[in-house]
Amino acid sequence: MDGPWLGCIADDFTGATDLASTLVAQGMRTVVLPGEPRPGFAVPRADALVVALKSRSIPSAQAVAASLAALRWLQEAGCSQFFFKYCSTFDSTDSGNIGPVADALLDALDSRFTLACPAFPANARSVYRGYLFVGDRLLSESGMRDHPLTPMTDPSLVRVLSRQMRSEAGLIGFETVEQGAPAVVDAIRGLQSRGVRIAIADALTERHLMTLGEASAGLALVTGGSGMAMGLPANFRARGWVPSKDSAALPRVHGPCAVIAGSCSTMTREQVAAMSAWAPSWFIDPAALDDPDRAVGQALDWARPKLAAGPVLLYSTAAPERVAETQRLLGADAGPCIERVLAAIARGLVAAGVRRLVVAGGETSGAVVGALGMPALRIGPVIAPGVPWTAAEGGEPMWLALKSGNFGTADFFRTALDLAG
Ligand code: ADP
Repeated sequence: MDGPWLGCIADDFTGATDLASTLVAQGMRTVVLPGEPRPGFAVPRADALVVALKSRSIPSAQAVAASLAALRWLQEAGCSQFFFKYCSTFDSTDSGNIGPVADALLDALDSRFTLACPAFPANARSVYRGYLFVGDRLLSESGMRDHPLTPMTDPSLVRVLSRQMRSEAGLIGFETVEQGAPAVVDAIRGLQSRGVRIAIADALTERHLMTLGEASAGLALVTGGSGMAMGLPANFRARGWVPSKDSAALPRVHGPCAVIAGSCSTMTREQVAAMSAWAPSWFIDPAALDDPDRAVGQALDWARPKLAAGPVLLYSTAAPERVAETQRLLGADAGPCIERVLAAIARGLVAAGVRRLVVAGGETSGAVVGALGMPALRIGPVIAPGVPWTAAEGGEPMWLALKSGNFGTADFFRTALDLAG
């Protein structure tokens, strides 16, 4: 039998690739769709599909509408179980968007119950008695307290969800999860019989997440961080639906390599410095962006003759003092303006033949994927935790690696390009 089986809706782009990587690691061939696909787009051959939305911090009515549209597309694609992915720090406000989206998805699926668990032990996020911990601290004592868009000041996810949803949220406690999947299934039945529509599930370890995954086999909708998806593939494998062949295999591509860095994070700055020592590199000076077209033209004129000889690096990455100066100069538009320039450079590089492209920076990656107009990305081998190579489908065949600013180690770019060699 052919998939897709699992349809996922992620509330941001890097969260979508993180989730997809988790599913691939558990043996499911997975494709990420940046935004709801255009009508008529052929469903990629995969076991799991992940629609990447940008719905975390938008008004909740818009987040609900976008999520329902993605759900409809995934249903028509043939998926039979659905996963709503949000951040492992439960990023949301009292008015949304996790609760309203979960309510709407339950209604649309005519389903009576779902679980919610953002635990991600590998990143030190755990849930105990419904309280979310980030490392040793409660969520409300972590840096998330001061998040500019979604400050998290209440560590009780049962309370947070109850405020966001139409009805009170329940809890499946640690002692139940410890007993294994049958005990969790019993607890789900008990909650359902009392009319509870959603329950926070405790999880401190990956074993707990695997238990919750097993217990979720009969749920139409599951919600959580990428860790919560870890236990789902085994259910499909148990039914013989997921083939055992290498789920991370990508069709090889040939052609020049390039790296574009728009992140100014500490790790990206180290990575840019490391690559500058062994590859030709070009700094896109944000102070000279009064004529963006000229900046793009100059960068491409510099890069084109070098592409045949080996990888090139183009970056706007700068130290905090320089970033602050640029922001003074360009105002609030500084970031989006630089993103547009880097995205146009990416388009020019692909037109010049580049087929293996690494992008550093979350927002920068979103801008590049948008500019390249890629309808689908098949998830391949992992370069560093949370960062896989992906292969574009439905357009120019090429490999793309999208790296969140602080991910990877200093030699990340060389590791990535070696893996794509
Ligand atoms: P990260 O993943 O590290 O947060 P992002 O790409 O998400 O990286 O964000 C970096 C932001 O900084 C982008 O909006 C980018 O355009 C902007 N930026 C890049 N270079 C500079 C610079 N030299 N000065 C000011 N802003 C910059």
